[in-house]
Amino acid sequence: MRILVVEDDVNLNRQLADALKEVGYVVDQAFDGEEGHFLGDTEPYDAVILDIGLPELDGISVVEKWRSNGKAMPVLMLTARDRWSDKVAGIDAGADDYVAKPFHVEEVLARVRALIRRAAGHASSEIACGPVRLDTKASKATVNGVAMKLTSHEFRLLSYLMHHMGEVVSRTELIEHMYDQDFDRDSNTIEVFVGRLRKKIGVDLIETVRGLGYRMQAPADAD
Ligand code: CA
Repeated sequence: MRILVVEDDVNLNRQLADALKEVGYVVDQAFDGEEGHFLGDTEPYDAVILDIGLPELDGISVVEKWRSNGKAMPVLMLTARDRWSDKVAGIDAGADDYVAKPFHVEEVLARVRALIRRAAGHASSEIACGPVRLDTKASKATVNGVAMKLTSHEFRLLSYLMHHMGEVVSRTELIEHMYDQDFDRDSNTIEVFVGRLRKKIGVDLIETVRGLGYRMQAPADAD
């Protein structure tokens, strides 16, 4: 899962990015509204954390422009504590949720998890696929109740496939959601990660769809 953080306060931006990376997300950072708008317009993100008061272009205008351009990714707005009018303006402009400053990073993380989950159509914080369970809260996965030992790349891959269960996901899409914009991306590595993941899962839940990509789904019940 790939997140964009748009915040002009350098320390706060770094603090958010570090916390997100710590729990397994890939993070791109922008420090003004124009840069943030450009990234959100051109790169695919699973969620965006967007400060309302930004140089160049304010957060409300940024989200408005994305929405009018058909960009539908979940947006969590950061607002000033007592400015209820900002919260209303943010939601009306197309933001999905907000957190007022000052906040606890844990609250931001919880809201981001919920936004990503809901955007993928999952109401619960735990997603199951056959014997595999993904705990989005703890950033952990189990097979038949046993904890899986996953590298950060393997976890991101599993998490993305499970959030998009039943859908065919292309290699390009996986790369775009597993690496940040500066990463030297090589689509062959995806095949390697899928292979490792299959081994760790044991049963084959990840199907290769020839020429298109991969699809993860629970095996049909055998009667
Ligand atoms: Ca600001």
